[in-house]
Amino acid sequence: MEIDLLKEKLHKKDKRITPQRMAIYKTLLENKNHPTAEEIHKIVTEQFPNISLATVYQILNMFEEEMSIIKAFTVDHKKHYEINHNFHIHILCPKCENISDVYSDKIEKFWQNLINELKIKPEDQTIKIFEICDDCRKNLKE
Ligand SMILES: [Zn+2]
Ligand SMILES: [Zn+2]
Repeated sequence: MEIDLLKEKLHKKDKRITPQRMAIYKTLLENKNHPTAEEIHKIVTEQFPNISLATVYQILNMFEEEMSIIKAFTVDHKKHYEINHNFHIHILCPKCENISDVYSDKIEKFWQNLINELKIKPEDQTIKIFEICDDCRKNLKE
């Protein structure tokens, strides 16, 4: 279903449907944990042992910048990718770098009001909150 959507969008942009492009998109569909390009590369090489990291970067950039079908945000100079286009907040653990998604209609409204009020056009609309996760907190106590 969502793979068909990718095919349609590639077609509209006059881009070829290549197995590598499909594989990267599928990897993002199946891995909702905001992988980095390196992590995506690692998964995709299981299927395409010869795919280079540079190609993965190139495809991710195309998906993000030219086609707006994936989203990216930066943590510690590392770019994380996801397909999720619904407004959500990222809770990040600074210890294990785990990133989870939190949804809130209230905060979405607040965020929209804030943007209108300040008359800004944010490049990155990701709200990041840093919190040590339960697992890491437990480990700290031990
Ligand atoms: Zn943690
Ligand atoms: Zn997310």
